[in-house]
Amino acid sequence: MVYSVIIIGSGPAGHTSAIYLSRANLSPLMLEGDSTGEVVSGGLLTTTKVVENFPGFPEGVDGYELTEKFKEQSIKFGTKIISEKVLKVEICDDNLFNIYTSESIYKTKSIVVATGSTPNRLYIPGYDTFWHKGISTCAICDGGLPCYRNVPIAVVGGGDSACEEALHLAHTASKVFLIHRRDKLRASKIMQDRVFKNSKIELVWNSEIEEVIGKSNLEVLKLKNTFTGEKYELNVRGLFVALGHKPNSGFISNIVNTDANGYIITNEKKETSQKGIWAAGDVQDPHYRQAITAAASGCIAALEVERWLS
Ligand code: NAP
Repeated sequence: MVYSVIIIGSGPAGHTSAIYLSRANLSPLMLEGDSTGEVVSGGLLTTTKVVENFPGFPEGVDGYELTEKFKEQSIKFGTKIISEKVLKVEICDDNLFNIYTSESIYKTKSIVVATGSTPNRLYIPGYDTFWHKGISTCAICDGGLPCYRNVPIAVVGGGDSACEEALHLAHTASKVFLIHRRDKLRASKIMQDRVFKNSKIELVWNSEIEEVIGKSNLEVLKLKNTFTGEKYELNVRGLFVALGHKPNSGFISNIVNTDANGYIITNEKKETSQKGIWAAGDVQDPHYRQAITAAASGCIAALEVERWLS
């Protein structure tokens, strides 16, 4: 069987594509990933407890529940969903694509890649225990929650994301510690200037977090100075981890162009360098990485696929 279009990935970008493509009677297949590895079914949004910035949910919505609603809508209009992880994609002689999973090979005329990105994490004791109980990787998603307001918060990282998170959190937290392992930020000059000028942000240089501890929620960071070896503690109620993201593009980077960081390069129509392959959502977006921007790019990709197929 040859599919008209296969969507790889199942976050807001993938499901928005699926809804549009199935409503266009193109009977898309979605390979949603499985529960292991990088491309997990539902994507990153399923790990956000309360989504307060997706229009239509004034009271906020659980990220997992929102994704289940996306899925229900995709299936309702005729998307077939299979829980398999894609291992590689090959171009065939007949201008079709073969998609290999651990279980099968699927043939298709076109592909929408919506496999998202994986935030880099810290491998320290307590990280898993306090994940979503004080530890987050998204200040825009979680920073406004009551538990992070008017309390001291830490951000770890030295890039633009860390600066952006610190500046965002400084609006609502009582104080923000920006912890970096070196004595210079990697972030752009303009972001550094904004951070240095913000009286609520305190830079904690040359420091690595060794452990996070608390009772039911995170309370204390155990740190080590990378120069002197001195160990000390910081009392905070939240830790926002901004160590960069890794786009989940490795399985297809042999046939589409990516930038130096692995993000798939797309144009305004979400076309990739390979005819017949579009990309949407975080896998092609190093900047915005929001559920709503992912959904919008999934819509653009679907409309362009529909036009191309016809
Ligand atoms: P990034 O530039 O790769 O920065 C990651 C930071 O995390 C670095 O400072 C790095 O430290 C630190 N780090 C990595 N692993 C660590 C570990 N195990 N322990 C402690 N620290 C660790 O990532 P990003 O900030 O997400 O930015 C990614 C791209 O998006 C960049 O091109 C950036 O310019 C862009 N971006 C732009 C904006 C904006 O313009 N508003 C906002 C966000 C992102 P070292 O510096 O020591 O390596």
